[in-house]
Amino acid sequence: ADDVALDPWGSSSVSDYRNLFEEFGIEEFDEVLGEVPHPHYLMRRGVIFGHREYGPVAEALRNDEPAAVLSGFMPTGDPHIGHKLVFDEIIWHQQQGADAYGLIADLEANAARGMSWEEIDEHGRDYLLSLLALGFDPEEGTLYRQSENRELQDLAFELGAEANFSEFQAIYGFDGETDVSHMQSVVTQMADILYPQLEEPKPTVIPVGPDQDPHVRLARDLAERMRFFKVSKAYASFELEPAERDLVAGFYERLNPADWNDDDLRCVHVAEALEETPLSDLDVSADTLASVLTKLEEAGMEPVRPRTRFFDRRATEDAFDALIDAIEGEKRVYESHIDAFEIELEEAAELARKVEVDNGGYGFQPPSSIYHRFMTGLTGGKMSSSIPASHISLLDDPEDGYDKVKSATTGGRETAEEQREKGGKADECPVYELYAYLLAGDDDEFAKRVYDECVGGERLCGDCKEQAAQLIKEFLAEHQEKRAEVEELLERADIELES
Ligand code: SF4
Repeated sequence: ADDVALDPWGSSSVSDYRNLFEEFGIEEFDEVLGEVPHPHYLMRRGVIFGHREYGPVAEALRNDEPAAVLSGFMPTGDPHIGHKLVFDEIIWHQQQGADAYGLIADLEANAARGMSWEEIDEHGRDYLLSLLALGFDPEEGTLYRQSENRELQDLAFELGAEANFSEFQAIYGFDGETDVSHMQSVVTQMADILYPQLEEPKPTVIPVGPDQDPHVRLARDLAERMRFFKVSKAYASFELEPAERDLVAGFYERLNPADWNDDDLRCVHVAEALEETPLSDLDVSADTLASVLTKLEEAGMEPVRPRTRFFDRRATEDAFDALIDAIEGEKRVYESHIDAFEIELEEAAELARKVEVDNGGYGFQPPSSIYHRFMTGLTGGKMSSSIPASHISLLDDPEDGYDKVKSATTGGRETAEEQREKGGKADECPVYELYAYLLAGDDDEFAKRVYDECVGGERLCGDCKEQAAQLIKEFLAEHQEKRAEVEELLERADIELES
């Protein structure tokens, strides 16, 4: 199998999707398809091929419970038909009842790609117009740009306290030359991913291409860290019903030092320190906390890391937070002992979230994701924004769109005769992709007919391309008409983009 490199800012294409399942733990979408109410055609046709924990989102949609969808656009050029996949995914989730968010990743575009603010404004507008033209409802949904969202910035700041440079190094290959703005744009993006849950935790899906998976993994990790942090804090604050307390206490009871080996000594020390200082004392005073901290330090814990949580530097908060940091060391053990848990983990997690939120925390659920295949470029290879002939821009003149399809490469045979005999290679044909990903729309039978006729040798490339080219021309004309119509909607949406 080819190497799979997942680099959110690189130009790598993912040539072997199977590797993603094995190496990165992305799961096959087919396994959850049955749980999705009225699945979108991109799901039915396997264009959306993978997911991380999409089950809770599907369940929420099925039961009319809160759910959210969010995706960001880095406005580095014109939106093209590859981006339309993400637009469609957001819109579909919105139509199924999810809170929908579309954001302009202007900080990321500036920091990671060096785009000027003027370029970002122009392209950002184009992305949003296409999103609206395709059916996004801005009155029900939320549009924002990173640089103008104050809450987002605050959240990014707090998430930054949970992440560190070595981690960015490992995940993104950052090094000593990486500029600070780029790193900042990463925590901002983490905040984007968790933003729909700021008011209320809910299953949230991020539709992306597989190259964005590193972001998803980090965000899931940070969501967990924030949660554990908050659960510990909530437990210690004792605003729980007795039964709830018992359940949460279950987490701690199972952190039994006797079960651990030498590698886990660090955690044993934490537990011992905790045993000696009853948790019921923890909300008493900074002195008590300080004494716990001293014990932790004596037990060889890492030095205290000061925090600015909620921008409050009170001694109690600081000391308490440092203690929580220490408890975080236990998380690893907690995970490795997860099988030994008798309590229903799901139940406990649900409660932990409730407890956390009741205590002023976030209660983030790990965000879910779905992954779609990249479209093949019309000239073969990857569809790329920087190669005009490889893609069809949503802003292309319909006639140009027509011409691009007419000169696309195909999966056809050398001669018509050979094609009739052996059939075309629809699976390797960018024109077939156009039908499956876009032109056939919701009409599965049409998509299937094109495929069957192609591989059966009844369909020849000349006519097939002519039909596709006509359809693209119509699609572009119609889309651009709609774009003009929604200009006004965009003006009314609460988002600043210079036109
Ligand atoms: Fe592609 Fe159509 Fe030719 Fe088949 S007939 S290879 S789908 S262009």
